Amino acid sequence: MQEDILKVLFTEEDIQVLVRKLAKQVERDYKGRNPLMICILKGAVVFMTDFVRNIDDYVEMDFMDVSSYYGGTKSTGEVRIIKDVDTSVRDRDVILVEDIIDTGITLKSLMELFSHRGAKSVKVCSLFNKPSGRQEFVTADYVGATVPDEFIVGYGLDYDGRYRNLPYIGVLKPEVYAK
Ligand code: 5GP
Ligand code: MG
Ligand code: MG
Repeated sequence: MQEDILKVLFTEEDIQVLVRKLAKQVERDYKGRNPLMICILKGAVVFMTDFVRNIDDYVEMDFMDVSSYYGGTKSTGEVRIIKDVDTSVRDRDVILVEDIIDTGITLKSLMELFSHRGAKSVKVCSLFNKPSGRQEFVTADYVGATVPDEFIVGYGLDYDGRYRNLPYIGVLKPEVYAK
């Protein structure tokens, strides 16, 4: 798998620094509020597990699967709910946990959905932000790092279902897309 990677953007150690920073910010801002962390599958699942283990307070977790990418590297502009949360969000402080914000289409629709369902607050914590891709005006309340206009993989992020298990964040060699 290593041979498919052109360059590493964030090492395991780099990522842990970002994750701890985000966890401490959220821990401080949400002290005693028992926020409901909603992990957006599948990309954010690796981040979520490290993130919550760095928060020294009560939190709850739920999972939602939505899709706007259908195997390729470009958004289709549509968001489909594949798996919904089990928890009622009414009067809850919701934190949407994302891997990366690119077009912003996914987040915009999820923020509207949870506000509509009566959440007390809806905030966004994303490990990465790719501002160059934005089509909808959305900003994350907590961002680990900004990334350039490149398609990244690893630490939960996939290309065509692969590379989620890489412990670092990398950029694929162009020939991988041509396969
Ligand atoms: P958005 O709706 O903001 O365009 O992005 C939604 C999802 O697209 C992200 O949560 C992520 O799963 C996927 N995505 C966006 N940019 C990248 C990228 O650079 N690499 C990978 N692997 N997925 C991405
Ligand atoms: Mg995602
Ligand atoms: Mg994907």
